[in-house]
Amino acid sequence: MSTRVVILGAGFGGLELATTLSEGLGDKADVTLIDKGEAFVFGYSKLDVMFGRTSPEAVRLAYRDIAKSGVRVVKATVTAIDPENRRVSTDGGEYEADALVVALGADYDMDATPGLAEGGNEFYSVAGAERLAELLPTFTHGRAIVGVCGAPFKCPPAPSETALLLHEYLTARGVRGDCEISFVLPLPSPVPPSPETSAALIEAFAERDIEFLPNTRIASLDPARKVAVLDGGGEMAYDLFLGVPKHRAPDVVVAAGMVDDVYVPVNPRTLQTRFPGVYAVGDVAAVGVPKAGVFAEGAARVVAQALIAQIERGEQPGEYDGLGSCYIEFGGGRVGRVDVDFLSGPKPTGTFHEPSEALVVQKQQFGASRRARWFGA
Ligand SMILES: Cc1cc2nc3c(=O)[nH]c(=O)nc-3n(C[C@H](O)[C@H](O)[C@H](O)COP(=O)(O)OP(=O)(O)OC[C@H]3O[C@@H](n4cnc5c(N)ncnc54)[C@H](O)[C@@H]3O)c2cc1C
Repeated sequence: MSTRVVILGAGFGGLELATTLSEGLGDKADVTLIDKGEAFVFGYSKLDVMFGRTSPEAVRLAYRDIAKSGVRVVKATVTAIDPENRRVSTDGGEYEADALVVALGADYDMDATPGLAEGGNEFYSVAGAERLAELLPTFTHGRAIVGVCGAPFKCPPAPSETALLLHEYLTARGVRGDCEISFVLPLPSPVPPSPETSAALIEAFAERDIEFLPNTRIASLDPARKVAVLDGGGEMAYDLFLGVPKHRAPDVVVAAGMVDDVYVPVNPRTLQTRFPGVYAVGDVAAVGVPKAGVFAEGAARVVAQALIAQIERGEQPGEYDGLGSCYIEFGGGRVGRVDVDFLSGPKPTGTFHEPSEALVVQKQQFGASRRARWFGA
């Protein structure tokens, strides 16, 4: 009987895992890929939607288009996980696995920041980005805050990109002179592992008259007074609040007893959890790398190769290296890149590549290659 691999979540991690298993095993694979959604959307597409550069429909990659030998895609919500017995309950039935991979990502904890749901606008979900695409054209004067409500959060450069793109957007509409932009970040610098990248971003903020407040967290919002309350009690008035909510592991993973602190502890080199035959990859796992698609993908490849080796009785592959490259939009049609290395040295390091038009093309190729590989598009 073939090894039953059940993958929970068809995001960056789940899609790469299913694809690599199908490539390696073909018909011999017995993979079930479960997701509650109808479609995948790249994280960075949310910024494109929010700033009206594209439509929500244009960025949806429908799961029904996945056709891979040995892979069955199931639309269902995971309601319970029994990691001891590798059993999963969904609203569409039960699944048993020989190898179970949890790739359910990170959820947003709106309740952790009082006032955010009522008075702020999160831009980290597709629905939030869609709402902002309608709201932003009505913003013509006053102070906009791009504010982060807790770390770690997905794609550390994304709020910096948002502040820069907001400047570009308001400038194009001829209202930038009537607006202030403040960026509140609970980290010491925009991209802590790469001082060069952080310096370039801080310089870009200064050039664009964007106020940058590092080491500061948004604790709550008072929508009635239109005030953001900072850690330590300080206050900032706002007319428009663009928020990154605090993140947490999905409830179903917490209820399964898989979480120690906030996320699922794993061996960072193999992604194995403490439950035999159960792995966790991507944002749901506590690996010590940033919450970003490239890292989820890299981790998924290591798990897939280990499973292929196990099934084919081949040699076990190398370990997870914690390397990844992130593209950073600076506005003005220029994109930079930071290559980060999280696991090989005593502390994380990053190498910065100056914004250029060539990197715009490279970022497009990054998306196109995944669309082709995962969706055959
Ligand atoms: C604005 C923004 C910009 C970003 N830019 C980049 C970038 O440029 N580069 C980059 O690498 N990363 C970027 N990211 C981060 C990236 O999107 C995430 O880190 C990545 O998607 C994590 O992959 P994952 O597989 O762990 O989880 P996800 O991709 O979040 O996938 C998890 C999946 O699990 C499903 N799921 C959750 N709960 C259930 C359940 N109970 N039942 C069934 N299914 C469930 C969800 O529907 C989802 O499809 C960005 C993120 C944002 C928000």
